Amino acid sequence: MSEELDLFVIGGGSAGVRAARVAAAHGAKVALAEAYRYGGTCVIRGCVPKKLLVLASRFADDLGRARDFGWDIGEPRFDWAALRAAKDREIARLEQVYRDGLARAGVRAIDARATLEGPHTIRLAGGETVRARHVLIATGGVPVRPDIPGAELAITSNEAFDLPVLPARMVIVGGGFIAAEFACLLQRLGTRVTVAYRGGRILRGFDDDLRRHLCDAMAEAGIEIRNDAAITAIRRAGSGFDVALAQGEPIRTDLVMLATGRRPNVDGLGLQSAGVALDERGAIRVTPDSRTSAARIWAVGDVTNRLQLTPVAIREGHAFADTVFGGKAWVCDHDTVPFAVFSTPEIGTVGLTEARARQAYAHVDVYRSTFRTLGNALSARAERMLVKLVVDRASDRVLGVHLCGPDAAEMAQLAAIAVKTNATKRQFDETVALHPTAAEELVTMREPLPDPGR
Ligand code: NDP
Repeated sequence: MSEELDLFVIGGGSAGVRAARVAAAHGAKVALAEAYRYGGTCVIRGCVPKKLLVLASRFADDLGRARDFGWDIGEPRFDWAALRAAKDREIARLEQVYRDGLARAGVRAIDARATLEGPHTIRLAGGETVRARHVLIATGGVPVRPDIPGAELAITSNEAFDLPVLPARMVIVGGGFIAAEFACLLQRLGTRVTVAYRGGRILRGFDDDLRRHLCDAMAEAGIEIRNDAAITAIRRAGSGFDVALAQGEPIRTDLVMLATGRRPNVDGLGLQSAGVALDERGAIRVTPDSRTSAARIWAVGDVTNRLQLTPVAIREGHAFADTVFGGKAWVCDHDTVPFAVFSTPEIGTVGLTEARARQAYAHVDVYRSTFRTLGNALSARAERMLVKLVVDRASDRVLGVHLCGPDAAEMAQLAAIAVKTNATKRQFDETVALHPTAAEELVTMREPLPDPGR
């Protein structure tokens, strides 16, 4: 390729593909290199396959209570290989959608690893070099392995999707999104899960009521959560492993999965030769409009130190392309972004936690309700839904909405519109309930909890 490109994108995940397509639609001459599979972590070994496994796992609950609703369905049997194959077909279809989208937009998609050889020269794994006026780095993140003996014996979420068989027992190390999600889904698919978390309660940073509610529900489902369990080593033991802890007996298990965070994927990209600076976490340092320290080299998504979420990465990529090639400058707003944890029950949350709100505002009112949803009413299941609003008393603004239970993520997406547009508690109250739903609780809670300050 002798002609100079307008844009070369390194990384064919959600952010890179969006940026490439939008830039091409603005008339830019664009190429994109991807070393593995199109769609990135989200599509290939993250959000999408994870959600498919979560949906599969929840049949365990539905089948369990089907009888309470009058169904006689015999003895259900789960086939992991069949689910894996179905999941693989869907991922292959989505990857093709990504490839087709690039082709339709006129982007040259290159199936090769790309390395920066200087500020605007890119070397492809086959030896070809390419020059581009702008370079966008969108290489995402990779799982972190703690620096302990035997860490290499464990799998990460990368491998979890393609296990040949599900183990009878598994230890999941960590207490974040991935640990909570995989613990809940694997337990329902038949694996006995132990979560080993180094802190006092999993999901640090989330609202404390959500954390408590989920931990109780996980325990109810049979998941063992070991708090204050810092792991010090992983050792082979027979056909399985021993997970050694800083205190107490090691945990004997069949498989260990590390869910101890993700780091920016910058290794071997040639960033130094191009003058691209990293921050203290090893992420590419960027300005709000995604400029790196090198002129006309940009970075978006998990390779930067912002929010590790697909929709955020997509927006950053879109904003970059509109700004640089579309004559329309804008930046991705990282404020009031909704989050979901696809545990079972799932978490949906947006805005300030109660603790953060109490730090930032003089008087905070909390509205909280827990109840059994109609889906559980006919069965003996004790599982309850949690709905919580955090409100600034002075302005009446709803600062945070925290949900744990069926469809919490769907509800949080809608609640996020209200929180983002500064809706007040009064406006929530003026909204007529939609009955019978669980979400109606959002607009029917009248009495705040007693003020802890009084
Ligand atoms: P998280 O950052 O969510 O959690 C990491 C966990 O590992 C924390 O509990 C942390 O403990 C613990 N940990 C970190 N280092 C060590 C260590 N050396 N030894 C033992 N424990 C350790 O990371 P995940 O891997 O779960 O997920 C990565 C990111 O991917 C998330 O932050 C999220 O942005 C994204 N993601 C989003 C999802 C969604 O939107 N539903 C789903 C999955 C991932 P501590 O709390 O003490 O720091």
